[in-house]
Amino acid sequence: MAAPAVPALLAVWEQGQDQSPTWRALALLGAATPEADGDALARWPLGRRDAALMRLRADLFGARVEAVAACPACAEAVELSFAPTDMDDDGTPAGAAPGAVTSADLLAVAALPAGERARAIADRHGPGEDFAAVERRLAAADPLARLEVALHCPACGHDWVAPFDVVGFLWAELHHWALRLLRDVHTLARAYGWAEKDILAMHPHRRRRYLELVAS
Ligand SMILES: [Zn+2]
Repeated sequence: MAAPAVPALLAVWEQGQDQSPTWRALALLGAATPEADGDALARWPLGRRDAALMRLRADLFGARVEAVAACPACAEAVELSFAPTDMDDDGTPAGAAPGAVTSADLLAVAALPAGERARAIADRHGPGEDFAAVERRLAAADPLARLEVALHCPACGHDWVAPFDVVGFLWAELHHWALRLLRDVHTLARAYGWAEKDILAMHPHRRRRYLELVAS
């Protein structure tokens, strides 16, 4: 797995504007592993998928995650910063997802109302079985599927645990990256008359230097 080339990443961002988080996750994984079969990626357990996406985001945007969360007790904006070192590929063979929820499950139930999806996924994994029991089994089969961050509010002292939405966070970063990049292309194309593909092919350091010269 390698960080995708700039034009491939931009294409995922462009095509993913109106798509679901599951589509975005699979498109990003597909861009990072062009040799992989898309159906096989869709059968990865969500924990494995999210671990791979976190490695991709570290390659693209740096290892450290910086975010802001609202304190549920006093609404203070609390900054959080962590470097996920404990997340790794869980070693599940590609294509085999025994008993864990996968992107293929999420795609299969995407057309249902949000309130019915969990039960429909449980039915796929344990038809006719007790819903709560299947839910517990699915959760136990893939503990990495639910990432949580421990947070502390310096203003009021409240401690809480918040879910960390890997796909949503990475997509937001990708969105800001794409907007910055297009603005830079706009600036250089207007100043020098260069073609978009040539500006995108340029090493970021060289692009930065030209932007400084345009601004000077
Ligand atoms: Zn607080």
